[in-house]
Amino acid sequence: SRVRCPRCGFSYRLFRETLGDSMSAQLLDRKVAIITGAASGMGLATAATFLEHGAKVVLADIQQDAGQTAADQLGPAARFRRVDVTDADQLESLVQYAADEFGSLDVLFSNAGAACDLSPVAELAPEGLRRTLALNLDAHAAAHKFALRQFRRQGRAGSIITTASIAALQAGWNGAAYSMAKAAVLALVRQTALESKGTGTRSNAILPGAVLTPMIPPMFGIADADASRFLSRVSAAIGGQTLIGRAGLASDIANAALFLASDLSSWITGADLTVDGGAMAFTKDAT
Ligand code: NAD
Repeated sequence: SRVRCPRCGFSYRLFRETLGDSMSAQLLDRKVAIITGAASGMGLATAATFLEHGAKVVLADIQQDAGQTAADQLGPAARFRRVDVTDADQLESLVQYAADEFGSLDVLFSNAGAACDLSPVAELAPEGLRRTLALNLDAHAAAHKFALRQFRRQGRAGSIITTASIAALQAGWNGAAYSMAKAAVLALVRQTALESKGTGTRSNAILPGAVLTPMIPPMFGIADADASRFLSRVSAAIGGQTLIGRAGLASDIANAALFLASDLSSWITGADLTVDGGAMAFTKDAT
């Protein structure tokens, strides 16, 4: 299970040896995860993926009915908690709940978010900015805080994954306030990684491109009832903005989150993982 480099003589351990059984079995065996924004879209897909890989998952969302229905469908290793992530006290009790219910916390996927105010800078009111930052920045900072405290309390490290966006890197997605929040999230992710130095705890960001989830239709003024029809209609157009040639799916993000949650990524921290079908890799003017 080792391969030796013929040039330097260094021998590399293969994945299976580094990771033991987790390569062949389940990547998140016995791990406990919290996922915010888990009632739909990327959070829900990630909950299903984590459970498939042996984790116990607390789904957290502000949508009570959708969240409870999702958890019921996902089976006995899933729980639902109604949480408004903009309320720090609720986040603190969410972390406590996971620890009480399943014994520890190993993975935080801080993922809930939405574009609350699409105003251009010249029209942006303080209230719209504050509301957007509360959901897309402050909530992540609070979630990191309570997860870090739990890791310290339990004497065991964890993996924190935070959903940013390509809006952090490029103007023109979802308005100014959302872009500002998502850019600041990248700084938070790095700071958490730094402050976890030497503890084994890792902190990384996922930057999704345009992914077919319930988040997209409202940006075009489309109501919930027409969302799936709208998504299939715009799917090809979104795909055309990528190098892979298709729009992103929630499962694309779930797979990235699985990688960052698991020991496969044990040497990755403070990183930004763009998952966008290559959209950010080229200019739209290129032929
Ligand atoms: P989604 O709307 O399907 O999921 C977001 C979830 O967050 C919803 O279930 C919603 O109820 C929940 N939520 C909203 N406010 C909340 C609050 N205050 N407390 C608790 N839960 C709350 O959308 P999605 O596309 O799966 O979005 C997930 C993340 O991905 C968000 O952070 C979003 O900004 C980001 N993102 C999405 C895209 C995209 O194209 N869909 C692209 C880049 C980044």
